[in-house]
Amino acid sequence: MPGIVVIGAGQAGAALVAKLRALGHQGEITLIGAEHVPPYQRPPLSKKYLLGEMALERLFLRPESYYAENAIALRLGETVSAIERGDQRVIAGGRAIGYDQLVLTTGAVPRRLPAAIGGDLGGVHVVRSLRDVDALAPEFEPGRHVLVVGGGYIGLEAAAVAAARGLKVTLIEAAGRILQRVACKETSDYFRALHGAHGVDIREAVGLERLTGKGRVSGALLSDGSVLEVDFVITGIGITPDTDLAEAAGLEIENGIRTDQFGRTSDPAIWAAGDCASFPWRGGRVRLESVPNAIDMAERVAENILGAGKPYVAQPWFWSDQYDVKLQIAGLNAGYDRVVARPGDSPGVTSLWYYRGAELLAVDAMNNARAYMVGKRLIDTGTSPDPAAVADPGVDLKALLKP
Ligand SMILES: Cc1cc2nc3c(=O)[nH]c(=O)nc-3n(C[C@H](O)[C@H](O)[C@H](O)COP(=O)(O)OP(=O)(O)OC[C@H]3O[C@@H](n4cnc5c(N)ncnc54)[C@H](O)[C@@H]3O)c2cc1C
Repeated sequence: MPGIVVIGAGQAGAALVAKLRALGHQGEITLIGAEHVPPYQRPPLSKKYLLGEMALERLFLRPESYYAENAIALRLGETVSAIERGDQRVIAGGRAIGYDQLVLTTGAVPRRLPAAIGGDLGGVHVVRSLRDVDALAPEFEPGRHVLVVGGGYIGLEAAAVAAARGLKVTLIEAAGRILQRVACKETSDYFRALHGAHGVDIREAVGLERLTGKGRVSGALLSDGSVLEVDFVITGIGITPDTDLAEAAGLEIENGIRTDQFGRTSDPAIWAAGDCASFPWRGGRVRLESVPNAIDMAERVAENILGAGKPYVAQPWFWSDQYDVKLQIAGLNAGYDRVVARPGDSPGVTSLWYYRGAELLAVDAMNNARAYMVGKRLIDTGTSPDPAAVADPGVDLKALLKP
């Protein structure tokens, strides 16, 4: 008997099926995942798991037994190859599975370096899946030289782990500064200094011309003409939403699978959530790549499948761990025209507040949970404190919350 079918057994897919059961839904639920392991959290893949400080089982979002105990048919190691909308069924492993309601939580795929510049050589890694990281881990031998391509969060986190494990690390960033796409200059400066203090050689405004080697990478030619000898390469050059299935099925795509405010795609029987989905936000449209968004949107879609009719209103937040620094980000800084720095009470503790005009958009808090919490509360409630008060360490942060 058809029921709810979910394609993609990752963070969003797992949250969605659990929420359906928590809401008391009794119908059939099938969760189909291309990977061979139960749904797991990805953030530790570039942090504690890569450091060797976290056991595999702790990555799993729930014990595998949870799915059977809750009558969720978990089909691992199966890739859905087509959605036949007319017949309301999907094809996985040559078999057809019917649905009443279908959800796409297919996530994203990492961008790879083109084969023409050596991207297909052995020893060139991406960091997206458990399988990627299990292939990467044996490369982490002290003294070896790793080239990290890309100075976004994934590249910087991998660089931090490599440096902590005694590797020689060079990181190149083609843009003028690391984190340029996602953060202000001050945040870039903070993390450049942090990595420099741990011996990472960061080269900005330097691109990769090509990787060299016979079968396996052994060198890199950079855009500034320099030549490096390297033992292996990690690429952190971004991801693209996994929309192939949706596109082939004729669903509307707009920077990801296009959904309305309820998480519904252009087909009323099909929904989407997580990294693969774009949704209306503040008069525009956004696609977020984060755990909180994957969970919150998936849970809202679960409610809406059961008829709640509640819009998904994202309250974006994100984090990154590098060495002993926890960066917490509240809000989205897109369109900021001013950054206000608020010094913390000890070295390395700080926060940066992004404004557009008088409106507070986002906060980057480094080892400063208090600034993060206050900033998040302000942003979530649409309250913008006076920038002069924010910049003044004499003003108690909590006072900013008072109207
Ligand atoms: C190394 C790393 C570090 C990160 N760190 C952070 C962090 O610190 N903080 C944070 O907020 N976020 C972080 N993220 C991002 C976060 O993990 C993602 O935003 C989140 O996993 C998105 O969940 P999702 O369910 O949309 O996609 P995913 O978790 O990627 O799950 C999608 C699943 O769908 C499967 N799939 C795709 N197509 C098919 C198909 N046709 N058939 C069957 N299965 C299919 C895929 O195999 C995959 O298992 C990190 C991500 C990575 C990779």
